[in-house]
Amino acid sequence: MSAFGVSALRIVWIYPDLLSTYGDQGNALILAYRAKARGHRVERVDVRSDQAVPSEADIYLIGGGEDRPQRLAAERLRRDPGLKRAAQRGAVVLAVCAGFQLMGHAFYDEQDGVLPGLGLIDVTSHRGTERCVGEVVADVDAGLSVGGKPLPALTGFENHMGTTLLGSGVKPLGATVRVGHGNGAGTGVDGAHVGKIAGTYLHGPVLARNPALADLLLSWADGDPAASPVDDAWALRLRGERLTAVGA
Ligand code: GLN
Repeated sequence: MSAFGVSALRIVWIYPDLLSTYGDQGNALILAYRAKARGHRVERVDVRSDQAVPSEADIYLIGGGEDRPQRLAAERLRRDPGLKRAAQRGAVVLAVCAGFQLMGHAFYDEQDGVLPGLGLIDVTSHRGTERCVGEVVADVDAGLSVGGKPLPALTGFENHMGTTLLGSGVKPLGATVRVGHGNGAGTGVDGAHVGKIAGTYLHGPVLARNPALADLLLSWADGDPAASPVDDAWALRLRGERLTAVGA
């Protein structure tokens, strides 16, 4: 029996043709794997940039990209009401890097300067002074938990020029960046979360390295993941390797 929606967990992967750097597609694979391991049926829809984003799914994933594909994605998503409608009715969104910047009010493009985002969350991105590239380790906002437990530190990989500043009502996903930059040099934090929208600069893919974050998203989608643990041996090995590599 499924706890999700009508009968299956519906995962939408937005614009694989424009935004899918550093294996961000893995986030969809991990969510599907964990939901299926718990006996749920999963429907995954990959929405190319010439297709409409459905507004009825449970979880929306959007990844990172270079400046030009990011600009194209912004143009198309601003014209397409699907993601906005989904977010307004409380769907879960995980947005990574360029995708995270697109959730905010504005982002910076080398060719065109400041461009509007979707304004789904109160964050604004601009061009940073240095490229942020390398491993990241960040402690998760203590206000977040899965099955009553706090989430372990996030591990991931970043590569971006953008710096993202959070509005006053917005909390970072990674409240303390211990290694790397997250939202940009000097910010000290990574990502953001507001309601059921989470953003991060972390690739890896971030849900492969951080299964607890995957379970947080599943819990937001009403899947109660804490009720049935998944065998995380492989994920813990990957986490261990990456954390050891940066001495964290
Ligand atoms: N183009 C954006 C930047 O450089 C996002 C990069 C990315 O998604 N990896 O900030």
